Amino acid sequence: MISVSEAIQHIENYCIPSIIIEKPIEKTLNSVLAEDILSPINMPPFKQSSMDGYAFIHAENESYKIIGEIQAGNSEDILLKEGEAVRIFTGARVPNIADTVVMQEHTKTKDGFLFIDKLPNKFANVRPLGEQIKVGEIALEKGTKLNEAAIGFLVGLGILKVKVYKQPKVSILITGNELKQLGEELKEGEVYDSNSITLKLALQQIGIKKVRIVKIKDTFKATKKAVKKQIEKSDVVLISGGISVGDYDFVKKALEENEVKEVFYKVNQKPGKPLWFGHKDDTFVFALPGNPASSLSCFYMYVLPFIKAKLGHLKYHLPKLKAVVNEDVVNVHGKTLFLKAEVHNGIAKQLKGQASSMLKSFATSNSLLLLPEDKEIVKKGEEITYVKLN
Ligand code: AMP
Ligand code: MG
Repeated sequence: MISVSEAIQHIENYCIPSIIIEKPIEKTLNSVLAEDILSPINMPPFKQSSMDGYAFIHAENESYKIIGEIQAGNSEDILLKEGEAVRIFTGARVPNIADTVVMQEHTKTKDGFLFIDKLPNKFANVRPLGEQIKVGEIALEKGTKLNEAAIGFLVGLGILKVKVYKQPKVSILITGNELKQLGEELKEGEVYDSNSITLKLALQQIGIKKVRIVKIKDTFKATKKAVKKQIEKSDVVLISGGISVGDYDFVKKALEENEVKEVFYKVNQKPGKPLWFGHKDDTFVFALPGNPASSLSCFYMYVLPFIKAKLGHLKYHLPKLKAVVNEDVVNVHGKTLFLKAEVHNGIAKQLKGQASSMLKSFATSNSLLLLPEDKEIVKKGEEITYVKLN
C-alpha cells in the first residue's frame, strides 16, 4: 500500500495535456487556450466616444457652433475648427481633429449653438485608438480558461478560431447488482446508484461536456467485456465499485485480463483505500471504491487534477490552504484522513458523519481537511491543511 503523497506523485507523472485542436471560437466555452492569441486589430479600432454628447477641440469658449452629427457606425471624418462642435453618440468615431467629448447632461443648445455648463478635462470621454489592446499585443495567454467574457473579448477582436486542448472522452462504468436507477422502486437489499450522477456532474463542473455511463452486473464476464469495450472507446475510464476484496469484486481481475497496466492499487487513506490507477497505452483507468464518499473523495484528490491537466489547465489541483481547527481532530487509523468540513474565516469545523457510505456531510461541506497518516492529533487552535472544494 502506498501513501497519499506517493499516489499523488504517480498521477502527477501522467498529468499531461491532451492533443491540440482548432475550434470555432463560439464552441470553446471552458476550454483552455493552447496558444497565445495576438490581437489582429486595435481595440477600439478607431478613436471612439464613450458618451452621448458633443465632440470639440478643447478650449474655453462662450459657445460652440454645432456643425454636424456623427452616429455610431458612421465612418466619415468631420473637419472642425476651434469654437465648433459636432453632435456625437456613444461608440461613434470622434473626428481626428477633436480631442474631447462633453457629455450631453453638461450642456445646453440654442439656435444651433452649444453652451457647456461644465467644461470637461481635455481628452475626456474619448477612448484612444487601441486603448484596450493594440495590434500584435497578446490578447490572451496560453493556459487561459475560456469563459464567456474571454470568448466575447476574442470575438470583439474578430477572432474566428483558436487552438485549445481536446476534451478527453470519459466513460463511467458502474458496477453493483444492488443498484437501482432513479425512478425505480427499491426492493429489500437495494440502493440507488448515486455515483453515476455525482461523478458525471463532477466531471461537468470541470468542463467535460459528454460522459458515457455504462452499468455492469457483478460477474467477471460482464465486467471484463465492459472494461474492454470502454477502454477502446475512451481516453479516461472511471469505474465505480467492485475494486475491493469481496467475492463479487471483479474489476481488478478484469483490468488485468484486459492488460491494463497497474500503476498503483490501494492507498493508505480513509475513505477510499482500494483506489486503483493504471493505463493501457493512452487510456487511463481509475477504479474508485463504490461507497459514495470514497468515490467522491478519490475524484477530488486524484481524478480531478488528472482531467484538468488533460484539459490544459496549468493549475490543476484543488487549492490547498490552511485553517485553524475549532476542536481537536484525531487520527486513530494511521492513515491519511480526508475529513468533510466547513471552513469559514480561517476556522475549520469537522462535520458529523464521516463514514465512507455517507454523502450528507459532503453535501454541506466546502472543504476536505487533510490529516496526514503520521499525525495523531491536531489540537484545537492548531493549523490544519485543507483542500477547498468550492
Ligand atoms: P463496492 O465498492 O462495490 O464494494 O461497494 C461498496 C458500497 O458502496 C456498497 O454498499 C455499495 O452498495 C455502495 N455503492 C456501490 N456503487 C454505488 C453507486 N453507484 N451508488 C451508490 N452506492 C454505491
Ligand atoms: Mg460492489
